Amino acid sequence: MRSKDRISYFYDGDVGSVYFGPNHPMKPHRLCMTHHLVLSYHLHNRMEIYRPHKAYPTELAQFHSEDYVEFLHRISPDTQLLFAGELARYNLGEDCPVFENLFEFCQIYAGGTIDAARRLNHQLCDIAINWAGGLHHAKKCGASGFCYINDLVLGILELLKYHARVLYIDIDVHHGDGVEEAFYFTDRVMTVSFHKFGDMFFPGTGDVKIISKVVETYQPGVIVLQCGADSLAGDRLGCFNLSIDGHAECVRFVKKFNLPLLVTGGGGYTKENVARCWTVETGVLLDSELPNEIPENEYIKYFGPEYSLKIPGGHMENLNSKSYLSTIKMQVLENLRCIQHAPSVQMQEVPPDFYIPDFDEDEQNPDERMDQHTQDKHIQRDDEYYEGDNDNDQNMDAL
Ligand SMILES: [Zn+2]
Repeated sequence: MRSKDRISYFYDGDVGSVYFGPNHPMKPHRLCMTHHLVLSYHLHNRMEIYRPHKAYPTELAQFHSEDYVEFLHRISPDTQLLFAGELARYNLGEDCPVFENLFEFCQIYAGGTIDAARRLNHQLCDIAINWAGGLHHAKKCGASGFCYINDLVLGILELLKYHARVLYIDIDVHHGDGVEEAFYFTDRVMTVSFHKFGDMFFPGTGDVKIISKVVETYQPGVIVLQCGADSLAGDRLGCFNLSIDGHAECVRFVKKFNLPLLVTGGGGYTKENVARCWTVETGVLLDSELPNEIPENEYIKYFGPEYSLKIPGGHMENLNSKSYLSTIKMQVLENLRCIQHAPSVQMQEVPPDFYIPDFDEDEQNPDERMDQHTQDKHIQRDDEYYEGDNDNDQNMDAL
């Protein structure tokens, strides 16, 4: 039992400033709201805060096809009309629109999950959090369900360099299909998704304890937990009835296994509740109960009129009968009996960590010597890391 978990937390404000479009339910602004709520509870003082690197196209192509990555890199709102065929081929358009800075958005959230995996691999932390990640629907050759690049798959590929078995748990209201599909033919990754048609309706904890049996059987070296918040009551898209306490209980439950843990965001379309949920869960990961009254912060107006952290659970009738739940549980346990206990891994040469070139500034064109992102790496941004005089400053961008 560790006395205190070392937690790495990844955030870049640029990820919250992109805009999917006026009628699109995905609002990346929820990430800024979450971060500022985390700051207002002073949770940043007890974690190492990092700005993730922007994943290189070649890193994204560790899972995705090169032509798809290249197209995402090239396309812009202004040019998309010229590429109708490609847009259709890569499933870009209505659900997955092309917007300003789309590729950079992907690079940042994917970079966060990859960095998180690397810090876990090198035992630099026990838990790594990237609320911007968790885009579990993206496929090898195309976008799906608001997801363009599947950061979870990229993070798991990184973890597989150091761990024989990775357990992926998904509590988004939607099925984590992109991750399941990516690892369908390997026994080194087990994916467990609780989603619609699952068993997690009111009052929240549902039957998440099945997970104990999974961990016991599979003996993973590391767990990846996707915390999509569209399974909360009152979500604009989801239709589940979980309270924040119920959702957070899943995080608490998984944390108790004391295995290295990579935690990401995911869905979540009522943004003030997403921010509440992920802040409470950051607190859970820090073993902290947070006061219910939301402290003053930049986005306080979104949390009115109660300004409270906890939201009441939904008022949906619980239609999951005990017998229905126990039938599901029996089926799952039976499936687990059929799988091999803790499949072993043949000795193989471990692929190296991805090579990140170390640019020599003097050799670069002075006009493009430092882009904004690189400059940011050298500048403390007051708006994102207030109370900038704490000990964690030295850890900025240590990767
Ligand atoms: Zn979802």
